[in-house]
Amino acid sequence: MALRRRVLFMRGEVSVPAVRKTSFICTLHPRPACYNQRVTESFQAPIGGATRYCAVFGSPVRHSASPAFQNAGLAALGLDWRYLAFEVDPEDLRVAIAGAQAMNWVGLNLTLPHKLLAADLVDALDESARAWGAVNTIRFEALDASGAWQPLRSFSDTPPRVRRAHGFNTDADAIVRALREDLGVEVAGATVLLLGAGGAGRTAALKLAADGAAALFLVNRTRSKAEALAVEIRTRFPATRVEVGYPGHGADLVMNATSLGLRPEDPLPMDEQAFPLRECRAAYDMIYRPATTRWLARAQAAGCRTANGLGMLLYQGAAALELWTGQPAPLTVMRAALERNVYGT
Ligand code: NAP
Repeated sequence: MALRRRVLFMRGEVSVPAVRKTSFICTLHPRPACYNQRVTESFQAPIGGATRYCAVFGSPVRHSASPAFQNAGLAALGLDWRYLAFEVDPEDLRVAIAGAQAMNWVGLNLTLPHKLLAADLVDALDESARAWGAVNTIRFEALDASGAWQPLRSFSDTPPRVRRAHGFNTDADAIVRALREDLGVEVAGATVLLLGAGGAGRTAALKLAADGAAALFLVNRTRSKAEALAVEIRTRFPATRVEVGYPGHGADLVMNATSLGLRPEDPLPMDEQAFPLRECRAAYDMIYRPATTRWLARAQAAGCRTANGLGMLLYQGAAALELWTGQPAPLTVMRAALERNVYGT
């Protein structure tokens, strides 16, 4: 029902009060294409029969900023495409992916809790997804007349029947890109204190080791998870020194990959008695809402260069857009749309 209302509203056939007001910062737009400022940017052309689709599947997904900045990117590229967001239960993920493929969507993003599950559901895994065991981007492809797999964007008419879901991971590269471009930190040779060993912390630790970090110090509330991650890193990336606990002396970078800081009442994610922030050159907080957590503010006050996790979100999305469209992502436009969505600026 909600989907039907959404479709009707996209066509301009439903008025604002018929849709849950809480999900909107909506002003009625004379063009039916703009139905939700959190979900779309203004498009030149209204949705038509030739419009192509991509989407993010997650649960929950209502908070997602991806539609705002992905649609801004699509509009800037002049594509008659739309990026939507769907609440998908993990039990339905297989049929949801199959449905998107059957309807000739160009691709998908997957967010919590689907990234690991999707690795078992796609037909082919890119090396990026195989390396981290998780899929955050799917590109739908079809077999062309020469027997090569081509992205569905390559077929202007109905694509050939033989199709596949090709899984990628753009999260890991986005972490390193954010560290380089937003914080000026080069991973190779760096000593890093990593707080958190959940999904994002694990990906960060493995990627930092893969990219030549000299030493990793892992701290996690559940110590056994940090220990298991340390074992995995020692096996896969023996050139990186890895220890569970705080470094005895300075570090080039400290990174918060815990969820502490999302709420103002949260405790700090690290023990500053065990490791003073002033001993660190740079601090990266994967959290981007709020823009400055209490921990990031303390790192600033201690003299660290700092950045929040907005860049990570932007860069993983930009890489997905490039996989789908085959074109460079219009990063400035996408960043502005993301900041507008997240911070209202
Ligand atoms: P996750 O898998 O649920 O992991 C949560 C991490 O936080 C674990 O290390 C967990 O420790 C720790 N933690 C949770 N509550 C804690 C508490 N009360 N005290 C101490 N530690 C606690 O989540 P995730 O996907 O890795 O996400 C981690 C953070 O990164 C979140 O803040 C998320 O918003 C952020 N993130 C940002 C981006 C981005 O694009 N910027 C992308 C992904 C994630 P235990 O192992 O002991 O439970």
